[in-house]
Amino acid sequence: MNEKMRKIELTLTFLFSASFLVLALAITFVLTDSSNKVLQKNTAYLMAAESRQLELNINRYFEDVEETAALLFSDPDYYAYDATDPDLDEYTKIKQKEMISSRIFDIGLMQNFSDFGIIYSNDETIGWISQVTNAMFPEGGMYEEFSATIGDEKVGGGWSFGHRGNYDRLYYAKRLNDNAIVVVSFYNRELETVFAYPEQLQSMTICLVDEDDKILYSTDTSKIGNRISASVSQAQSGEENSAVITDSDLITSNSCRNGWRVVCTIPVREIVRENLVNRHRTIAMILVIVLVILVIGLALNYLISRSVKSIVNNLSQRAEHDQMTGLLNKADFQKTVSDVLDRNNQEMAYSFVMLDLDNFKKVNDTLGHAAGDRVIIEAARIIRVCFGDQYIIGRIGGDEFAVFCASAVFSADDLERNVCRVMEGLFTEFDKTFEEERERCMISVSAGCVNTEKGNYRFDVLYKRADQMLYKSKKSGKGKLITCRMSADAASGEGKG
Ligand code: GH3
Ligand code: MG
Repeated sequence: MNEKMRKIELTLTFLFSASFLVLALAITFVLTDSSNKVLQKNTAYLMAAESRQLELNINRYFEDVEETAALLFSDPDYYAYDATDPDLDEYTKIKQKEMISSRIFDIGLMQNFSDFGIIYSNDETIGWISQVTNAMFPEGGMYEEFSATIGDEKVGGGWSFGHRGNYDRLYYAKRLNDNAIVVVSFYNRELETVFAYPEQLQSMTICLVDEDDKILYSTDTSKIGNRISASVSQAQSGEENSAVITDSDLITSNSCRNGWRVVCTIPVREIVRENLVNRHRTIAMILVIVLVILVIGLALNYLISRSVKSIVNNLSQRAEHDQMTGLLNKADFQKTVSDVLDRNNQEMAYSFVMLDLDNFKKVNDTLGHAAGDRVIIEAARIIRVCFGDQYIIGRIGGDEFAVFCASAVFSADDLERNVCRVMEGLFTEFDKTFEEERERCMISVSAGCVNTEKGNYRFDVLYKRADQMLYKSKKSGKGKLITCRMSADAASGEGKG
């Protein structure tokens, strides 16, 4: 019963912990999954806003460059000069060049550009056209190449990049007149300040790409000069400004004033990574909590069941045993003996003894009830010691005891011999112990016993027959043992009768 209860308790504890764990995991999963979606959405908004800002920044930067180039237009003298005019004398040429150079110098922005100068159709230059740019055209053709980037529109300018395999700088060319263009260039690395972005978007890659998807600038500098990946290129919806979420990336694309685009990408896994870390942390925490709950539950379970067990044991001990003597009470003696008889396999012989103190009332009357109690307690001890562990012993009345034993080895004769031997010792011990009581109250012990052949017997049959022998003993002068024999046949006849 206890074992069963324990199993039920353990199963319940386990089921409780398991369902708690499953529930906690499910909630964590749902929460992090939905928070992943929210996070993706928020990141997409932030990114769209940020890339729009980057587009405005680069437009402003380009505008500054274009304005600087346009400043050279403020006086027709500068663009009216034609270095290729054969009618111009050397003196005028030198004067004009000096004036234009100082004009370029005046604008005073040279330090921001690696090139800032005018190129004439005969490839003559004024201003600061860098050595690197000059070195790109060892056989001339500089004017022609940069003129081509402007297109047909005379007043407009043209942005270009990657001339002769040089990916370090971006060029802007603007036409001054039919024979002259102004060229401005700067290092694309300098765009770093234009493309500054907030910390929340640390995993964002920014690219400035031209019409052919070629990368002019990237936060990942190794990519400059390459094309953006086909998947990113395809994901752009073709609208001027777009934000797309693919399976793997968040992508925004914003068109700049010159047709180039700012393309930003963030891998989706980077966005959810932090969330994933959080989820793992939460799961670990839940596991620890569940474990602690489980341990506390098991400990409590153990403590409670231990104290319940001891209470139950105590109670059942009290219920089963006679409080005064510690022997089985009548009901439990009967139950214990009946259990043994019910398990009978026909191969058992039994001995059933009834004992009653003689003239016990007189002890109560003469020496008092407390002395009577002591006599009962001592008598029980003597019976227990003399018969030993092989016998089941009970107190079945005030001064009445019953003793039973079953044996698969001994015969009825053996059992009877043993009972006689034990009783002899018991009488001697009793006399020795109760010398005074015997003298004053004449107390002794009477006993009746039935020993059976091997076979099936019922409790009440054995009890009755032993009681008859006890009665016989009392009738014939007390202080003695009277035994009898019983066969299974006789017993079954008595059982029916
Ligand atoms: P007999 O020789 O015929 O057995 O007579 P007896 O004086 O021993 O009396 P009997 O066995 O008929 O009755 C037992 C008496 O024991 C009855 C009751 O007053 C007394 N008694 C029963 N239980 C207790 C007990 O727990 N303590 C004490 N002190 N006396 C008890
Ligand atoms: Mg008696």
